[in-house]
Amino acid sequence: NTFAEIDLGDALNQNIRRCKYVKPTPVQRHAIPISLAGRDLMACAQTGSGKTAAFCFPIISGIMKMQDQSAQRPPRGARTVYPLALILSPTRELSMQIHEEARKFSYQTGVKVVVAYGGAPIHQQLRELERGVDILVATPGRLVDLLERARVSLQMIKYLALDEADRMLDMGFEPQIRKIVEQMDMPRPGLRQTMLFSATFPKEIQRLASDFLSTYIFLAV
Ligand code: AMP
Repeated sequence: NTFAEIDLGDALNQNIRRCKYVKPTPVQRHAIPISLAGRDLMACAQTGSGKTAAFCFPIISGIMKMQDQSAQRPPRGARTVYPLALILSPTRELSMQIHEEARKFSYQTGVKVVVAYGGAPIHQQLRELERGVDILVATPGRLVDLLERARVSLQMIKYLALDEADRMLDMGFEPQIRKIVEQMDMPRPGLRQTMLFSATFPKEIQRLASDFLSTYIFLAV
């Protein structure tokens, strides 16, 4: 019933203590073990429920383990980077918040988090990406731009988190999201583990879940 009892890796457990998180919130208590067990997940979670940590902890923990096994990535093409995890979010503000939290959680873990959102010059984001990225936090439109410029490849994505999926659909991002997920699955179908977070579950979200998730656990807290 405390984070100390969940083995997320020493460095991450230490960061969690440093953030003064002691007890998991309900969504964290259920989502984290499901994700650590490698299962896909669709979770009903509102802002303030602690959903950011619910998807960040398993991702960071999983990438730390991949580093232990020194996962091989393709040689760095000209300027293409190969993140291992992708967190999609609807807005620049939310992306910035997720990035900030994910950076705190990944302090001294060796896991590098970069954010890319629209409505801001792309060049600084490109420079950040060039320094290396394990977890990319992005808005769908900007990510499509990066994919078209061949600056990001999704070939190595092991974890996909869709945050506020209902809001992304309301904002008209479905075509971009589908394009993104397609690029992920083309070279290596079945590689990724997916977490879908949404405040509401209309038909459109259910369709997205059945298209993007493997046999998944539905969580409503
Ligand atoms: P979120 O729903 O992810 O936006 O999180 C809402 C707020 O709760 C953020 O300020 C988090 O830092 C905080 N928070 C998340 N999980 C916990 C936890 N287990 N213990 C204490 N605070 C938390």
